[in-house]
Amino acid sequence: MNLVGKCIYRFGKDSVEGDGSMRELLGGKGVGLAEMTRLGVPVPPGFTLATNVCRYWLDQKTYPKGLQREMDDAVRWLEIEVGSRLGDPVEPLLLSVRSGAPISMPGMMDTILNIGLNDKCVLGLAERSGSMRFALDSYRRLIQMFSIVVLEVSKHRFDRALDEIRSSERVLEDSALSVDALETIVRSFKSIVLEVTGKPFPQDPHEQLRLAIDAVFNSWNSPRAKCYRKLEGISESLGTAVTVQTMVFGNRGENSGTGVGFTRNPSTGEPNIFGEFLFNAQGEDIVAGTRTPVAIAELSKRMPELFEELVSVTTTLERHYRDVQEFEFTIEDGKLFLLQTRSAKRSALAAVRTSVDMASEGLITRSEALLRVKPASLTEMLAPQLNFSDGDPQSLTTGFAASPGAAVGLIAFSANEAVVMAAAGKTVILVTEETTADDIHGMAVATGFLTARGGATSHAAVVARGLGKCCITGAKDISHDLTSGTARIGSETFHSGDWLSLDGSTGRVFAGRLPLKAAVGTNHYLQTLLDWAIEESSIEVWANADTPEDAARARTGNAAGIGLCRTEHMFFDPKRLNHMRAMILANNELDRSAALDELLPMQQHDFEELFRSMSPLPVTIRLLDPPLHEFLPSVEEVTSEIAAARREENWDAAIQLETVRRRIETMRESNPMMGHRGCRLSLTYPDILRMQVRAILQAALVTAGEGFAPVPEIMVPLISSEEEMKVLAEAIHETASSLFAERQQTVPYSVGAMIELPRAAICAGRIAKHISFLSFGTNDLTQMTYGFSRDDSRSYLDEYLKQEIFAADPFITIDEEGVGSLMKFAIGAAQETNPGIKIGVCGEHGGDPESIRFFSSLGVDYVSCSTARLPVAQLAAGHAKLRSEAPSCVSLECSTVPAETGSVANVERLEERSHSV
Ligand code: ADP
Ligand code: MG
Ligand code: MG
Repeated sequence: MNLVGKCIYRFGKDSVEGDGSMRELLGGKGVGLAEMTRLGVPVPPGFTLATNVCRYWLDQKTYPKGLQREMDDAVRWLEIEVGSRLGDPVEPLLLSVRSGAPISMPGMMDTILNIGLNDKCVLGLAERSGSMRFALDSYRRLIQMFSIVVLEVSKHRFDRALDEIRSSERVLEDSALSVDALETIVRSFKSIVLEVTGKPFPQDPHEQLRLAIDAVFNSWNSPRAKCYRKLEGISESLGTAVTVQTMVFGNRGENSGTGVGFTRNPSTGEPNIFGEFLFNAQGEDIVAGTRTPVAIAELSKRMPELFEELVSVTTTLERHYRDVQEFEFTIEDGKLFLLQTRSAKRSALAAVRTSVDMASEGLITRSEALLRVKPASLTEMLAPQLNFSDGDPQSLTTGFAASPGAAVGLIAFSANEAVVMAAAGKTVILVTEETTADDIHGMAVATGFLTARGGATSHAAVVARGLGKCCITGAKDISHDLTSGTARIGSETFHSGDWLSLDGSTGRVFAGRLPLKAAVGTNHYLQTLLDWAIEESSIEVWANADTPEDAARARTGNAAGIGLCRTEHMFFDPKRLNHMRAMILANNELDRSAALDELLPMQQHDFEELFRSMSPLPVTIRLLDPPLHEFLPSVEEVTSEIAAARREENWDAAIQLETVRRRIETMRESNPMMGHRGCRLSLTYPDILRMQVRAILQAALVTAGEGFAPVPEIMVPLISSEEEMKVLAEAIHETASSLFAERQQTVPYSVGAMIELPRAAICAGRIAKHISFLSFGTNDLTQMTYGFSRDDSRSYLDEYLKQEIFAADPFITIDEEGVGSLMKFAIGAAQETNPGIKIGVCGEHGGDPESIRFFSSLGVDYVSCSTARLPVAQLAAGHAKLRSEAPSCVSLECSTVPAETGSVANVERLEERSHSV
């Protein structure tokens, strides 16, 4: 024992020291190996140096006292466990040294295989295995990996030496190299090490082990690991664990191999085992994408019993972890070993399907299913696709459909190039041989990836699914020409900056800039999930809809009502605009009411459609809101019309236009958003209010007569005082009464206020006395609270975000501290004077998951968002309720979020958030 406590945890045939709860200490890989061993899954024995050692080492630059003793004991234990000894020339023990942080960081830190081989032991291994070829292949791999990772020799040196020998031997695959060739490779690798480092490759296995462990701990602070942590928001202080494990060999012949798989398809979610396998290969061969693997299903033909065992073992794992597993395995001479398991990263499509399926299978609860899909990730499903309506163009080539969606952009041939182009505002597609962790910065800015090598589990594919970006891998028809900086794709040559289009759902690559169209949208699984979310939520999700078409979409999207219909959008139709202009420009009551008489039936017709679509759900119609001059032509336009009239000597027209121009000039405002708009219009032009109320209620009467159940809610915008509200509510009720008297019929309706001015929020208690609902217009409320113009604050807001003065754009995610406090106050005050009052939110924030969570915590009854955002908002509303009920659900989501990386960080972020609420 020492200062930091127990440092090493063993996993072996008869004793396992760690278990599934020790992720923080053992790291993701270590904890998985311990738990799998406990479950009786075949795992090669080994031990894990815990993260506390890493933290101590990074802090103190030395290891805790007593670690060496613990380490020696562990190695001795392992030697007895497997019956061979480190450095033994006859029965050499061979080890892998693997890194594993509490949060998976794929490709961030390198594993070293075959530790324990040297010039003597390689002969023992050859003798024991009966294959010199295999022994030498293992040895050259050790020298290569160890030297790159530990001794920092350039990877290219080894690649070049290998390429030379491959071409002089005329073989394409390493597995076909002869014993002589492998001897040459080992010799040449050793001389590279001597030349670059000035020292021979270390022959002492204990020294190899020590140096490898040091290197893994140090790699925690490598630039690429740091970059990844920053990108994913992973804490710097976690540290990594190191697992030392007995080697098993996938490169022992045609009866051996290595593979990566998923218990369900990570792209589509289909409930079948999915993955890739390479015969006679070791370790990273498969992930590196240097050889093209076969589908796991191939195993069922060549090794049927083993395939069945694999299915059965991984199904056990999925049941145990109650989540889709991504696993790594090796077959040594017909015997199966599992080397890793973790919750699988998956596309949004797959996350939705697997969650719904697993809940239906009874493996998880509905709540768990809901929490496993991030609301924002649905945008990926609802992401654009290539539009082939003009016929399918000829594709250049086809690769693996590694991550769905579509990408259309300009080619960049390297991560750095992608960064430069993206900074210039371009949409970029990264086209490379393959990608590695070193390309992360370029992948973060690209809209899609295309690689020449690799398969469905290569680096590019995994990263793309995590980021929700489109990706095609292993498109064989690509050859890069580094000297000219071009690439041939299919039969065409491309330069960087050329347009390219990717179809991530089919793997097809197209030249040029193809049109995009809206995404798949919902399917049966998403619909089921959203139904569950709606059932679960305490906050309703309504839609903003201005036109009958919008309303139809709202209805099919299961909106619980229309929270905002902007009537002015109905006036911009050219036919109607003329009447609108006539109304605004009218010199007297008579002309005005004539124009309004023209407009009324048009509005009524639209409202009827909305009521029919939504019956029996509420439809909230906002009275005219924008400044009137928005409906008028510009002074310049009128001036040129005047000139034209004069040229034609049409003096009457010229005089008339002249009055129009003067009228427009008098209506001009220097601050229109704080001008003559909103309820101020209803107060100064009461005829407009009367016309609109009549149109609404007549539409309600008509549709009620047809057997529908219209629920009109009349909403008055930009209220700032009780008196305004009182006068306008009376005007609305009077109009309604006289209409009902005329028609000898009534329909229920309600009147409400939009709260979008700070003063209205502060006086909400008084305003609430005159209405039955209030709805926060959070866009204007944010604008007016901050004094930031919604229309032209971009330049400094971006700067605010860059300098981290703001954590989030307040026009996207509600400012809880300021605007949120106003809302909270307003709701409390309104409920005090009017206990039954209904509370809504109809700004852009109504579709933002983060904001929905906050609104739900305030007890808001509904949010209203654009129809396209409905699925995201519905799921977010379900999450809001589940999280508020059981804080433990937070950790539940985190072990299983689609992008498994960052899960612990997510916990931290979530906790932070719940504090600030
Ligand atoms: P990564 O974090 O990149 O997934 P791993 O530690 O999982 O790194 O190692 C990569 C690959 O090396 C594994 O998928 C496996 O194929 C191989 N490997 C690691 N340890 C062993 C071992 N003890 N025996 C055989 N292969 C191993
Ligand atoms: Mg790796
Ligand atoms: Mg691995």
